Amino acid sequence: MRADSPLAAARRQLSEAADFLGISEGLSALLAHPRREMAVSVPLRRDDGRIALYQGYRVQHNLSRGPAKGGVRFAPGVDLDEVRALAMWMTWKCALVDIPYGGAKGGVAIDPRTHSPAELERVTRRYTSELAGFIGPERDIPAPDIGTDEQTMAWMMDTVSVSRGYTVPGVVTGKPLQIGGSRGRTQSTSLGVARIALAALESRGLRASRASAAIQGFGKVGAGVARLLAGSGVAIRAVSDQYGALLNTAGIDVAALADHVRATGSVRAFPGAEAIDPAELLTADVDVLLPCAIEGVLTADNAHAVRARIVVEGANGPTTPDADEILRDRDVLVVPDILANAGGVVVSYFEWVQANQAYWWSTQQVEERLEERMLAGWHLVTETARDNDVTLRAAATAIAVSRVAEAHRIRGLYP
Ligand code: GLU
Repeated sequence: MRADSPLAAARRQLSEAADFLGISEGLSALLAHPRREMAVSVPLRRDDGRIALYQGYRVQHNLSRGPAKGGVRFAPGVDLDEVRALAMWMTWKCALVDIPYGGAKGGVAIDPRTHSPAELERVTRRYTSELAGFIGPERDIPAPDIGTDEQTMAWMMDTVSVSRGYTVPGVVTGKPLQIGGSRGRTQSTSLGVARIALAALESRGLRASRASAAIQGFGKVGAGVARLLAGSGVAIRAVSDQYGALLNTAGIDVAALADHVRATGSVRAFPGAEAIDPAELLTADVDVLLPCAIEGVLTADNAHAVRARIVVEGANGPTTPDADEILRDRDVLVVPDILANAGGVVVSYFEWVQANQAYWWSTQQVEERLEERMLAGWHLVTETARDNDVTLRAAATAIAVSRVAEAHRIRGLYP
């Protein structure tokens, strides 16, 4: 395992929380390792008739507070250690916002951009059927993540349902509305990130209408965050995706950029801003930086140069522990992923509750309940951090780990 890998980061965060909480070495070791994991081969008959083989994973990190919960990622770099880290973060995220789940994550090492929809359907169905005995509404509930979407979830739900002989809507969340999805799920992660970013700005005495932001990633999370923050008056000065980065110190027209991305597939060559080196986005002169793409982007190499006073983690694990220390020493407020981007899994929980009751809420009900949970998390984490003089990440991780540890203590060890 690389010293700067996501799994090393996740374990270091856990071990700091365990020290802070005085958790025993045995329990701490138990929490550092997944409860169960599955590695599967996923053969695909490509459209041209050739057979390709991909590796797929599903890791259930912890089940002590309820069924495992977490997304499925389709990306070329997916490996078991990355999935282990993401699964551990899901356990803490669900515990922190107090939804009755453990944590899981899955993935297939495939580049979805170089595969047709029909190929992606076959890969999804084969991966799902390999996991069929492992997932279910009371066992483990997948959801979208990088490279997957509501169509992927519809295929997963259908594959499980056909093999069981009846419709199982609660097996995945993030489904299309027509087959049991929840209103508000698609933009729920962005809504939560934007709400937390506004709370963070306010906590530092900054008015949204005078504030500026840089957003890394213009996908499912970043594009929504840009739209919502711009709607609250924040100037979105810099945006990037995997193809390029843009800067406009007067503020980017986010709606026009979204149209450009729909038409061309990337933010590159957008006429309303100047092209910059993607690395420059992270050090742009803004009040709040929102990494909303992948893990490990803020490191010991660039954390010194971050100019934003606030970092809000829309992605999972974008800040390495070394960068975290540098940012703390420079008094940059880092709002951790397990709080900032929890809106997605909170509305996943709402979707699962609605599916189990076969009773559907309005968009307003979903959004109000989401905001309530996000703000409750924000207040709990900021107060815990203040009372103990620790960072928001240390506070959030400690709250989550103590809830999971408590569940273990109450349930006891079998046999
Ligand atoms: N993939 C999202 C996350 O990382 C959502 C997970 C879920 O809804 O289960 O939080």
